Amino acid sequence: MSNFTKIIIHWTAGAYNPNSSELGHYHYLIDSNGVKHNGKYTPEDNLNCYDGKYAAHTGGGNTGAIGVAMCGMMNFKNKSSVGPYPLKAKQVEACFKLCADLAKKYNIPIENVMTHYEFGKLHPKTDSAGKIDIIYLPQYPNVKANEVGGFIRNKIRWYLSNK
Ligand SMILES: [Zn+2]
Repeated sequence: MSNFTKIIIHWTAGAYNPNSSELGHYHYLIDSNGVKHNGKYTPEDNLNCYDGKYAAHTGGGNTGAIGVAMCGMMNFKNKSSVGPYPLKAKQVEACFKLCADLAKKYNIPIENVMTHYEFGKLHPKTDSAGKIDIIYLPQYPNVKANEVGGFIRNKIRWYLSNK
């Protein structure tokens, strides 16, 4: 048992490599080559958010929540206007694998691994309401906005059972 309750998956809405502000907002960031960058704060810093020293990645849901972000999707509007930094295949797979590793390490049930978009839907009175990460995966254009979270959880389950 750990005190971590969930993992929230994001995209940064930035470019393909993390900038210093993004490093302060997520625990782990995956660049377009699938390389993991450690953020400024550790997951343990989010067990207590009252001291102000934590990664603020999910408004209304930071305590006990690990924030994982894929770098990219700046200026995404919709599937026909994805902006200059659409997520790459290597990157999304590395993200799913990292989430599997973290869920295992911290004993977090896979149902509690969700996208920021899903968290916002579940908590409509928080700042996270209306967030669009993640409603679209460029590699899987037929997966609808409301299906992306379930799709990702299935990918994570696959990684957990295939290593
Ligand atoms: Zn987000």
